Amino acid sequence: MSDPFTNPTLEAYLDEALPPDDMAAIEDELRTSDALREQLKAVTGRRDAGVHSLGGIWRRHRLSCPSRSDLGNYLMGILTDDECDYIRFHVEVAGCRVCTASIADLSAAQEAADKEEVSGRRKKYFQSSVGHLPKE
Ligand SMILES: [Zn+2]
Repeated sequence: MSDPFTNPTLEAYLDEALPPDDMAAIEDELRTSDALREQLKAVTGRRDAGVHSLGGIWRRHRLSCPSRSDLGNYLMGILTDDECDYIRFHVEVAGCRVCTASIADLSAAQEAADKEEVSGRRKKYFQSSVGHLPKE
């Protein structure tokens, strides 16, 4: 069937922190897959024993939502690979709604800014081509 689920994904599942489609996919798979049930049991066992992954801890306490400027830098592609991985995990695997909303917001703002820049350039080009370039 589909790709095997990773332990961090199963932990997010246990925290009900996955997007609804992923939650449903795991539930489906659990019905038919002994291997996945065993894997989930192991993950649950570790949690009960007090071994928490970093991911589990921040999901429960929302400790490590990246800042808005980190998210902006992520969109501009100027973070290190580690930082990108972290944010990708945070948003795509754990499905943090707060950060997903921030990213949507930021990329809309970025698009608007890009458009403005393009129309600004067009205007300048037009002005210079008809000889009305303001003197500076
Ligand atoms: Zn977040």
